[in-house]
Amino acid sequence: MRVLLVSCYELGHQPLGVAGPAARLQAAGHEVRCHDRAVEPWDPQLVAWAERLACCVPMHTATRIARQVIDDVRRRRPDLPIACYGLYGAAMHDVADRVLAGESDAELVAWVEGHDDGRVVHRERIGAVAAPPARELLPPLDQYARLVHADREQLVAVVEASRGCVHRCRHCPVPVVYDGRIRVVALDAVLADLEQQVAAGAEHVTFADPDFLNGAQHARRVVHAMHDRHPDLSFDCTVKIEHILAHPDLWAEFADAGCLFVVSAFESLDDATLARLDKGHTARDAGTAVTLLREHGIEVRPSWLPFTPWTTLDQVRAVLDFVADYDLVGNVDPVQYTIRLLLPPGSLLLDHPDVLPYLGPYDSDRASYAWRSADATMDELQIQVAALVEQRLEAGDSIPAVYARIRDAVGLAPIPVDEDRARAVPRLTEAWFCCAEPTTAQLAPLTP
Ligand code: SF4
Repeated sequence: MRVLLVSCYELGHQPLGVAGPAARLQAAGHEVRCHDRAVEPWDPQLVAWAERLACCVPMHTATRIARQVIDDVRRRRPDLPIACYGLYGAAMHDVADRVLAGESDAELVAWVEGHDDGRVVHRERIGAVAAPPARELLPPLDQYARLVHADREQLVAVVEASRGCVHRCRHCPVPVVYDGRIRVVALDAVLADLEQQVAAGAEHVTFADPDFLNGAQHARRVVHAMHDRHPDLSFDCTVKIEHILAHPDLWAEFADAGCLFVVSAFESLDDATLARLDKGHTARDAGTAVTLLREHGIEVRPSWLPFTPWTTLDQVRAVLDFVADYDLVGNVDPVQYTIRLLLPPGSLLLDHPDVLPYLGPYDSDRASYAWRSADATMDELQIQVAALVEQRLEAGDSIPAVYARIRDAVGLAPIPVDEDRARAVPRLTEAWFCCAEPTTAQLAPLTP
């Protein structure tokens, strides 16, 4: 069978979400081509070639873009069977013939071959894959986000040491699918995928695990094995505040092994909001985590969820002031100040008593239930800040310059920011985020 796998957005990384299933489909004897909508012009010839098409939807932004892709495909090939798979797979049931979520690679092969079991969510282990992800089917690494550090830009590999999460933060799409479980990727498989990206020129590694320390011993083994083989590689990983503080002994080890920064979901500085989200940390813990990591020379790159139904103007201002107080202006991608709570199908917040008064109908185009803020001016502020950030990034403003404009927009006095210091913080060149609405450019028409 000729199978076209389409990736729409994977945070600026070469998309593992299609490279993994591509290897599995090839091993089963199928002919596979991949298209990455994030970096390649749309090619209708691929649609004409395919006998099956599967779209990877691992996050909100990708889901929005995938709908546009599927609209185009349906116009050209109404007969072509289409599947959607990934964390947001279930949200695509109204436009796809088959939706899958979780550990679905084997089931995707079964769908292509016409003997799938019809279940949406798959949590069981999928077994060993004969080959590492088929990265040779993807655009080269130099088309993707780079690490900017010490006045250099470096190619970035992305690998995952685990999938799923043992936590159940209520706003997160991961527990909806994985229900508090993780699936560990075998050390050999992690290293095999890493090797092919190092051979392609990668000098930095992003661990794409939802939380790298869900299996702390496994993470340690992976980091040590990687460092033994490639002592010059640097890396970043995503770790929740609770885990940063629970493993104080680990950060010196990780720093020695090349850890430059840790992405961490700070979300809010309002303890009542953090409790509603079941985040497992308090506002006070956020500052402690920044300090702990910096003691080891590791920077934190916080992600935020400033706009929820309960947001007040003071809470938005508190985030901006915290960023200034902890010298984090260069650590926060400006899109983070715009993020609005998502309520996808199955969200653990849908029946929360503090959400129900603000909950609206499901909006399939946005793959989220609608909601309004208790203070309607916060909905307007979010739209204003989101437009501002998109415009200023498009215009090429620096991160401190955009931060200054956001302070102004929320009525905070200007503060001095050390531009050199902000520029020195290691970061990836990708400016957007998985929970953000797509930009105008990301949703540009597929063909002129
Ligand atoms: S937000 Fe992070 S820690 Fe919480 S459930 Fe999601 S992946 Fe796990």
